[in-house]
Amino acid sequence: MVKQIIFTLTLLISFGLLTFSFYRVFALLRLTKPFPIKNIGARIWLVLKVAFGQTKIFRRPIIGFFHALVFWGFCVILFGSLEMMIDGVSGLEKSLSFLGVIYKFVIACGDVFALLVLVSIIIFLFRRIFIHVKRFSGIEMRHNSHTDANIALTLILLLMVSLLGMNASYCALNPSDNSTLYPIGKLLSGYISSFPDTHLVFYYNLCWWSHIILIFLFMNILPYSKHFHVFMSIPNVLLSRLEPLGKLPNMDNVTKEVKIMMDPNLAYSAPASADAPPERFGVKDPEDVTWKNYLDSLSCTECGRCTSVCPANITGKQLSPRKVMMNLRARMKEKGHHLIKDKSYNDGKSLIRDYILPEEIWACTTCNACAQECPVNINHPEMIVSLRRYLVMEEAAAPSGLNVMFTNIENNGAPWQFSPEDRLLWANDIVINKN
Ligand code: SF4
Ligand code: SF4
Repeated sequence: MVKQIIFTLTLLISFGLLTFSFYRVFALLRLTKPFPIKNIGARIWLVLKVAFGQTKIFRRPIIGFFHALVFWGFCVILFGSLEMMIDGVSGLEKSLSFLGVIYKFVIACGDVFALLVLVSIIIFLFRRIFIHVKRFSGIEMRHNSHTDANIALTLILLLMVSLLGMNASYCALNPSDNSTLYPIGKLLSGYISSFPDTHLVFYYNLCWWSHIILIFLFMNILPYSKHFHVFMSIPNVLLSRLEPLGKLPNMDNVTKEVKIMMDPNLAYSAPASADAPPERFGVKDPEDVTWKNYLDSLSCTECGRCTSVCPANITGKQLSPRKVMMNLRARMKEKGHHLIKDKSYNDGKSLIRDYILPEEIWACTTCNACAQECPVNINHPEMIVSLRRYLVMEEAAAPSGLNVMFTNIENNGAPWQFSPEDRLLWANDIVINKN
């Protein structure tokens, strides 16, 4: 009974803290602009393919395979974790065993996956600590980013060790019982089966409590680390854009103005409120992005796949699509909580220039290689184009070459420096030669 009370209190505190963390994220999402979501059927298919099928991860087959093992392992092991929580609150043991064969299959898979995840995490840690992987470096990758990743990987490692320890001591305590439940636990139990029962019970309880406390700790660290993608990547894939990557969305406020120009009656049928502040064109700061852009930044795993294929970055330009996402997240963290208290809060800084330089965003070729490569379907070019739109439409701060083109479009209806009347002059020669 004491165990149940202590466990229930720990569970309530952990989920209370997690709810608070999500409430803070939700409050930040509410500061952003709307983004319509349609076509749920196609989205579910996308989740099955990209998130559960891990199709994009397999573009780099070897390391992708280990990453996929960790993801699939998490999904299966989650079932056992849920059972542990039910057991902890109710005082039962193996409370979901009434599911029969399905239960035995899932628990056995969880045991095997625990070992596979453990091996994968050791490989990841070794790679991060001893091998210089180019895509893990860059100006945006500070010391904190690496520490953050290593802490999360170490926690997962300890989670798997405690899970295997728990399964092994359970098998050692019950040599004839449920032996097929834990194939790996059964193998490992051979090393401890000669221990006295009191020791085995102690090991079992130690591993049980360590595992559950590590789960609570891990889930509460995630919202404050780059591993927030553990929670965010599936929703982000579900909500990712379905249109072809190269398609640029129109700006609603510009479309509205154009429609009013073409049909002035529209202005009378839906007059703008005189008190409403003018809408900003493009993105200057985090409150100008859509909630989907912000969700993108929260889902970023900092894996660097986007930057490693970016032609601008490869050819030595300042642009790194990963940095754009990390900067949006950092700027929202800096400004967002002040904005929640005071909508007019202004610290004199902005996402563009203080975090992302114009040189970076003008280096983008909008080739969409970054979005194509991103394993969690983040759309960087959409964000980059919105930052450009702000510079052009609010500050008239386009590079000089573009300004010439804009003037030509305005005056000549085409990007060239010729009057529309002269556009077919080149054909005169052809006609003359024919005659
Ligand atoms: S769209 Fe821009 S940021 Fe993305 S890969 Fe191409 S050049 Fe780089
Ligand atoms: S944006 Fe996507 S590809 Fe780039 S670092 Fe983040 S998760 Fe990786």
